[in-house]
Amino acid sequence: MIRTDLLEIVPSKQALQLLKEGNQRYVQGIHDESACEHAAARQLLWDANQAPLAVVLCCSDSRVPPELIFDMGLGQLFVVRVAGNVADALVIGSVEFAVQNLGTQLVLVLGHSDCKAVIAAVTRLGSGTGTGAGAGAGAGAGAGAGITAVVTEIAPAIERARATFSDPEKITAQEDCSPDSLHGLCSLCEDQNVRIGIERLLGSTVLSALATEGKLQVVGSKYSVKTGEVVFWDREAPISAAIPDCGHGHEALLPRDQKA
Ligand SMILES: [Zn+2]
Repeated sequence: MIRTDLLEIVPSKQALQLLKEGNQRYVQGIHDESACEHAAARQLLWDANQAPLAVVLCCSDSRVPPELIFDMGLGQLFVVRVAGNVADALVIGSVEFAVQNLGTQLVLVLGHSDCKAVIAAVTRLGSGTGTGAGAGAGAGAGAGAGITAVVTEIAPAIERARATFSDPEKITAQEDCSPDSLHGLCSLCEDQNVRIGIERLLGSTVLSALATEGKLQVVGSKYSVKTGEVVFWDREAPISAAIPDCGHGHEALLPRDQKA
């Protein structure tokens, strides 16, 4: 079967629905066999320009491969991967390239649970006093300049996450999943990191102009490395409601002052 749909510009709403359906298939262990027709797709994409249905900005974590977790094949996703899914200048430029040159109308910023880049940033910068945005210079003894750059990019998310705690100075180092645990802080930081990624992308004059014209949608989301499920933030859900179950069998992590 020739997949001519690979060459069509997909409206953002439809693209988002296709990603949701693909993730549901992945969670259920069902696979779209047409995505495996690599030879036909390769020829089609060689003969005509690609038209990926979505740009996905996500972490380099080996447990979060977008083509697998959305059950997609060749030519369907334009993927930008970097540790901690941070949106620096090169990442923003890559997204601009896809949107401007390939016509993609949906950008998905995908965070994930148990993000080691976020945990490393929290560990290096400290979970308590002194986690300010300017703390990047103290990114830990022995940290290379490259890792320090990643940590520095994540630092604002840590600061925001700490600000949502009613008493951030009482964040504990214990390994449980209580809201005031280090684990709770990291989970919130992962979410804030996605929010900041969206803000930085929309800080691009190219992307913001397209979004204003209704030709581009930028959506946040979070993948659970335990369940395989992606929670999409396309309904302007408050951040407390957007935090998925951390996979440890208890309620979703919420800051104390946002609990019902
Ligand atoms: Zn990660």
